[in-house]
Amino acid sequence: MPTFKDATSLQAFLNSQRTGNNTVGFVPTMGALHKGHLALVTSALSQNEIVVVSIFVNPTQFGNAGDLKNYPRTLSKDEALLKTLHNDIIVFAPNAEDLYNGNITSNSYNFGAIANEMEGKYRQGHFNGVGTVLELLFDIVKPDYAYFGEKDFQQLQIVRKLISLTKQPVTIVGCPIYRENSGLAMSSRNERLSKECRDASAFIYKTLQKVKEDFKYKSARQLNEWVKSEFDKQEALELEYFEIANIDTLKTIKRKHKNNKYRAFIAVFVEAVSYTHLTLPTICSV
Ligand code: AMP
Repeated sequence: MPTFKDATSLQAFLNSQRTGNNTVGFVPTMGALHKGHLALVTSALSQNEIVVVSIFVNPTQFGNAGDLKNYPRTLSKDEALLKTLHNDIIVFAPNAEDLYNGNITSNSYNFGAIANEMEGKYRQGHFNGVGTVLELLFDIVKPDYAYFGEKDFQQLQIVRKLISLTKQPVTIVGCPIYRENSGLAMSSRNERLSKECRDASAFIYKTLQKVKEDFKYKSARQLNEWVKSEFDKQEALELEYFEIANIDTLKTIKRKHKNNKYRAFIAVFVEAVSYTHLTLPTICSV
C-alpha cells in the first residue's frame, strides 16, 4: 500500500493508474481512523478502481490550539487498518508547510447562510479552514468522487457548497453515521475519553432517539426545553447546543411543515480526566 508525503509524487503515481474508465474515490480524514472512517473507505472501494485516503490534521480548521496539539496522530496504525480493507489503498499524508506552500492560512469563502448556523456560530473560522484544505486536496488528488460522513452533516452541506463555488469536477457522496454499540457516534476524539466519560456519553444518543420519537407529537420548543433539562442533570456532560433544523437550510425549526425534512443536531462537551474539553458533535434524523 503506497503512502505519499508529497503532492508531486502522489500525482505522478495517480496519473500512471488513471487508465480507461478508472475512477478515483477520495476520503479526506484527519487520521486516528476508526470504523466510521472505514465505512467511508468501503463505500469508495465499492464504487472506484482507485481509492485515496488523506490523513492530515488540518491546522486552519482548529480554533483551539490545545485541541490541535492533542489531536491523536497514529499514521502506522491507520495504514495497518486500511490494509485490512484492501492492499492498494493510496495514502496521502502531507505535512502542513508543504500542503499550504508555506502559507498556513484560510481562504475566505461565501458559503451563505448555512455557514452561520451551529458549528459556524460556535467555531468561528472553522468552515473556512475546512474549505481551504479541501480545495487544496481536491486540486492535488483530482477525485471523481469524494466521501463525507453525515456525522458532520453541516460540513457535508458546506462541502457541497464549496464545489458549487470552486467548480471543481468532483461528486460529493454522503455516508451514514457509524456508531459505537452504545449509540455514541464514532469519533477519533472518543479515544481521549476516560471509560467513565465514554459510558456517560451514551446518554447523548439515547436523548436523540427520544427526541426522534417525540417529534411526532411535541413542538421543537418543548423538545428543546426537555433536552436542556435532561442535560442539566448530567454531571459529566455539558450541552453546547441542541437544535432541530431544516436539512437544506440548517435553519432552526420554528413551526413544523409537513413536506420539510428535519434533523436534530447536538454538540456536547465531555469533561476528560485531563480537564480539557472535548467536543463530540453527533446528529440524528428526526
Ligand atoms: P475526520 O477524520 O474526523 O475529519 O473525519 C473524516 C471523515 O469521516 C468526515 O467526512 C467525517 O464526517 C467522517 N466520519 C467521522 N466519523 C464518522 C462516523 N462515526 N460515521 C460516519 N462518518 C464519519
